[in-house]
Amino acid sequence: MERTCVGCRASVEASELVRLVLGPDGSLAADPRGGAIGRGAWVHPTQECVRRAVPRGVSHALKTNVKATADALLTELAAAGRRRALALIASAGRAKKAAAGATAVTEAIEHGLAEVVVVATDARAGAELPLVAAALAHDQAVRFGTKAELGTALGRGDIGVVAILDQGISASLKRATALLELPSPRQARGSKDAIVTETG
Ligand SMILES: [Zn+2]
Repeated sequence: MERTCVGCRASVEASELVRLVLGPDGSLAADPRGGAIGRGAWVHPTQECVRRAVPRGVSHALKTNVKATADALLTELAAAGRRRALALIASAGRAKKAAAGATAVTEAIEHGLAEVVVVATDARAGAELPLVAAALAHDQAVRFGTKAELGTALGRGDIGVVAILDQGISASLKRATALLELPSPRQARGSKDAIVTETG
């Protein structure tokens, strides 16, 4: 299913874009799961495309005067992405599709079971494990949340590193965490460790 980004006008798979939904008062809200009812427009989850899209691109696409600012929407996108990512990690835990902690994660990677590895932003040791470092380098890992947040999502104490073993949850998780970074393409090329969730 292809959709056009109202920021850069490129037609890409809808899964690469985020849907923005128009409220009755002309406001815009992010719809990270893409299922909200209402008129909407699609945009890349990047600073550059959101700034081009809001409010002008969306107003044009929906033929109405949108009352929203790019800054407010970027903040909302980041918050929505964070909530969604934590919910996804929790659901992976409930489905027994999460391996938590250095030993379990290393084992999961070795057996080819880790679809994505989540490394807490305050977990140095986790990121330094050789296999986790390799996963980070190959876009198979995301830096997200704190040890306390990851632990809470899994109903445990602090967790520095988690492997998600389910393909669908992992794909959704990568999209959700991409909303947190909101990289511009320039930053994504220039920085080696800021962006690990960029998928294109
Ligand atoms: Zn775009």
